[in-house]
Amino acid sequence: MVDFFENKAIYGYLGVYSKENKKVQNNYIFKELEQLPVPDYSDFLWDKYPNRIILYMTGRGCSWGKCNFCSDVVLVNGRSYRSQSSKKVLSDLRELSKQVDTNIFAFTDLKLNSNVALWNNLIDELPAIVDNPIWFCAVHVDSRKKNGLDYETLRRAKHTGLTRISFGLETASQRLLDDMKKGTTVARLDRFVNDVRKAGISLRSTMFIGYRDENADDLRQTLEFLTKNQDCFERIKRCRFQIYEMTPIVEELSAAERDQVFARQLNHSYLNKDYLAYKKQIIKIVNKINSKRLNEDAIAFDGVM
Ligand code: SF4
Repeated sequence: MVDFFENKAIYGYLGVYSKENKKVQNNYIFKELEQLPVPDYSDFLWDKYPNRIILYMTGRGCSWGKCNFCSDVVLVNGRSYRSQSSKKVLSDLRELSKQVDTNIFAFTDLKLNSNVALWNNLIDELPAIVDNPIWFCAVHVDSRKKNGLDYETLRRAKHTGLTRISFGLETASQRLLDDMKKGTTVARLDRFVNDVRKAGISLRSTMFIGYRDENADDLRQTLEFLTKNQDCFERIKRCRFQIYEMTPIVEELSAAERDQVFARQLNHSYLNKDYLAYKKQIIKIVNKINSKRLNEDAIAFDGVM
């Protein structure tokens, strides 16, 4: 820090790079996750919180890592995906459960189903190491034939304590999903939300309005999806689409668009009457979903995710 403010060379430090100097990019990424120690929560003020929830990451990054808007993989976790072994994860969870005296876990992986073998082992083994586990995670409904999110697996996960699951819906327009490189289809998303409901798991999702070139017909499709599947969702975090520094979409913008990248209205469909009408209806249905009483089991995660 001192070197930076004194205008001295800072690229000798691990992990320091810039747009102009990318030579050391990613060198800092810690790849041998198996060497990570068991997290130490002993000084955490647990008595200040209603629940003892252990936050735990089984891996770093996302096995997909291609969504053009995603800042998580460029700014937080790094573009390469790497994970710990099932043995190490389960051993850590056993230790942590004893250390913190709890059975509640929030997995903070960007995509817990990145490593499907680990995902399946977690589901199968968790009850053997922790009594009555309760857990939360985020997944990506990707297009792999076996992405670990079929109904049978979700049902098994529910039986081993998966209480709430989160995913990125973003939009129900296939045209926009493809443009975002989201790596999924509306049909897979539809199937997933209904399977989650059938399995009795609380469903939370994110979505945004205002993606580039989004038009009234894209919003109509999203509205239809939400209307049809409103009983499947328990909470939706709806945002205005934003572009973050260093995400791939920044490179795809024209010079004029890049100039106004942080402006409130990059998407000019906001001026279209039909677009505004669909947007209003989407906000209404999302508010209706978010006013629902939470599934009793998922209350431990209220405010967490
Ligand atoms: S699936 Fe999620 S975490 Fe992975 S690249 Fe896409 S938005 Fe980012």
